[in-house]
Amino acid sequence: MQPKVLAMAMAGIGLSLAAGTTQAQETFEWKLVTSWPKNFPGVGQGPERLAKLVEEMSDGRLQIEVFGAGQLVPGFEVFDAVSEGTAEIGHSASYYWKGKAPAAQFFAAVPFGMNAQEMNAWLHYGDGLELWNELYDDFGIDVMAAGASGVQMGGWYNKEINSVDDLDGLKMRMPGLGGEVMSRMGVAIVNMPGGEIFTSLQSGAIDATEWIGPYNDLAFGLHQAADYYYYPGWHEPTVMFEAIVNEEAMASLPADLQAILRTAVRDVNQDVLDEYTARNNDALQTLINEHDVELRRLPDDVLAEAKEISADVVAELAESSDMASKIYDSYRAFQDKVVNYHAISEQAYYNARNPDGDTTQ
Ligand code: CA
Repeated sequence: MQPKVLAMAMAGIGLSLAAGTTQAQETFEWKLVTSWPKNFPGVGQGPERLAKLVEEMSDGRLQIEVFGAGQLVPGFEVFDAVSEGTAEIGHSASYYWKGKAPAAQFFAAVPFGMNAQEMNAWLHYGDGLELWNELYDDFGIDVMAAGASGVQMGGWYNKEINSVDDLDGLKMRMPGLGGEVMSRMGVAIVNMPGGEIFTSLQSGAIDATEWIGPYNDLAFGLHQAADYYYYPGWHEPTVMFEAIVNEEAMASLPADLQAILRTAVRDVNQDVLDEYTARNNDALQTLINEHDVELRRLPDDVLAEAKEISADVVAELAESSDMASKIYDSYRAFQDKVVNYHAISEQAYYNARNPDGDTTQ
C-alpha cells in the first residue's frame, strides 16, 4: 500500500473508532420508582432485575437506580412522578391509578377475570397492550407488562368467615375492583400501600387484609397479626404489574437502548411469575407448619355473592366511558375465547391431575 493511501486508510479507521467511542460513552442515568418496599421478594425483585439486565445488556450505557416506595416518592405517587418526569421509569400496578383513569383497573386485576397466562396472551397477542398504551397516552406514559403474581390469596382475617353475614362491618384493605365488590358486601374498604399493612392489621385499625400470596405475606409477617388465611383470591386471579416509562425519556434513548429496555421488561414479566410459582408453596407450608396459620377456603355463599356483585361492578366500570367500554369489550371477548379453550385444556388437566383439588392424588 502506498504511504499516502495507508495514511488515509488509518485516518479512516481512526475516525470510525473515534465515532464508535463517542457513541459508547453516551450513557443515560435513570431513576426507577416503585410502589413496593425496596428489595421486596417477588414484585420488588422485578425492578432490581430490570436494572441489572439493562445495565449488562447495554454495557453500562443505560443505568437505572431503583427506589423503593417512599425513598424518592410515596408508593401511590409513582404514576405522577413518571408522568411529570421526576423519574423516568416506574414499577407499580395500574389499579392504583383508578382515580386518574378508572379503566386502568382492567389491566391490573378483574375479579373472576383472566389469570396470568390468559392476561399475558391478551396483552401480547390480543389488543390488550395497545389499549393500555392508548389509555396512558394522555399522561405521556409508555406502558409494558412487568410481572404477574399468579392467583392470589383471599386474605387474612382476625375472625372466621362462615357466611356473607360475617363480613358485615369488617374494615379491610383490598384495592381495585375487588375492594368495590367487598364494600357492597358490607365491608369498609381502606386503601394503603403494602408497607403500612402489617402495622394497621396488628393495631386493629383494620380487621382484615389481602396482600399477595404466601411468599409475600410471610415476608410481611401478616401471620403475626391475623389467624385465618383464606383462599382463593377471587378478586385477583392475577395482578399484572406494570413498567411505566416517561414517553419523552423513552424517545431520548437510541433505538438499541429502547430495544434493550423492552426486552429486559419482557424478561422480568415472566421472571416475576416464575419466582412466585416457585416460592409460594414453600411459604404456605412454613405458614401452616411453623406458624400454625389456619388455612380456610372462603365459603361457597361468599364466593357466589362476590361473583354476582363482581359482574355488576365490572359492567358499571365498562359503561363509565367510551374508552372503558372499548377496553372491556376487548378483554371480555378474549376471556370468552380463552375460557372456552382452557375448559378443555388447563382446567380439564387440573381436574384430571387432582380431582376435586385433592393434592394427595
Ligand atoms: Ca393483592
